[in-house]
Amino acid sequence: MNCRHCGTPLEHTFLDLGFAPPSNAYLREVDLFQPEKYYPLKVKVCDKCWLVQTEDYAQANELFDSDYAYFSSTSVGWLKHASEYAEKMIKELNLGSNSLVIEVASNDGYLLKNFVANNINCLGIEPTASTASAAEKLGIPVLSEFFGESLAKQLVINGKKADLIVGNNVFAHVPDINDFTQGLRTVLKSGGTITLEFPHLLQLIRYTQFDTVYHEHFSYLSLFTVKKIFESVGLRIYHVEELSTHGGSLRVYGCHKEDLRHTTDAVEKLLDEERHCGLQSLDTYQRFQVGADKIKDDLLLFLIEKKREGKKVGAYGAAAKGNTLLNYAGVRPDLLPYVCDAAPAKQGKFMPGSHIPILSPAMIKEKKPDYIVILPWNISKEVMSQNYYVKEWGAKFVLAVPILNLESEV
Ligand SMILES: [Zn+2]
Repeated sequence: MNCRHCGTPLEHTFLDLGFAPPSNAYLREVDLFQPEKYYPLKVKVCDKCWLVQTEDYAQANELFDSDYAYFSSTSVGWLKHASEYAEKMIKELNLGSNSLVIEVASNDGYLLKNFVANNINCLGIEPTASTASAAEKLGIPVLSEFFGESLAKQLVINGKKADLIVGNNVFAHVPDINDFTQGLRTVLKSGGTITLEFPHLLQLIRYTQFDTVYHEHFSYLSLFTVKKIFESVGLRIYHVEELSTHGGSLRVYGCHKEDLRHTTDAVEKLLDEERHCGLQSLDTYQRFQVGADKIKDDLLLFLIEKKREGKKVGAYGAAAKGNTLLNYAGVRPDLLPYVCDAAPAKQGKFMPGSHIPILSPAMIKEKKPDYIVILPWNISKEVMSQNYYVKEWGAKFVLAVPILNLESEV
């Protein structure tokens, strides 16, 4: 396989998690009587442009047949993040009724509704029908298609060029990252702005967040590599911000190469930090598997030890990252009998691969576990404060990533 950005043959493995079912393929009871499909889950790194990318495998398209859809508006914190972003951009870019904002992967309209409320023209691009129709109900025009150069050209033919293009948590999910970036350039007005948010590879490596690796996630991105990809199509990154979302994300600000805006110091500063942390050195990537294996081993040892001591262990948060961790560790219901999750759509279903049942959080009171493993570590504080009452019977919260931590107190 060759690098999806620069075409160099990929010779180095970053992480090999064996085989796993898609992390969002939650099972119904009836599915437990059916065979389950496993796909290779291997991540390579290009030693020329340092793009970290999942290895190609057969039938990748099947993954997207899943009827599971995540509605962004279900997260209160994310809605706040979106409205603050909109307010900032409207002010900074002086957007008004003659402006056009395009959001790629506009989901249920969680972000664009803030621009609509300010009488700014919007266009959402969202291939998932259920979320797209939720956005349309909010008065947001949506094109139900995948974004790339060909759609961008069509938009331009129809007289649509954007003052602002937004892409939140989509850049790492596109298989053809060059074509996607080319499309951004095509549909960007002269003087226009692109902002993209994606999890930062530096945090993934620093905190061994190997459980954020799953099939739908094609790329793991550093500023260094994104800058290269932008430059290859005639775009320039003029500013960057570090965000706390998803365990540590970047928001990059892009413009046409010839745009008059100066590149801020933040860009060079972060590039320096990445270099200093070894993101352009093969050793750093080759060490990653050792850290992932340690997390897996420590979790397994903990679960086996508690089982032998006769302690009760449950988990909280049926997140995709939990599936990556549990499947890599080979955890099954004998070691972890249930996972509680607040999303009604997941309750009554089973975790893919491990077949651990998903229960309502109300069941914690009934089960009275001694230990609660929080799988989505990025919202651990929220989970601990919402479930503080478990202290009544002395339960302890446990985090597995980045290191096994039994002492987490509220
Ligand atoms: Zn490359």
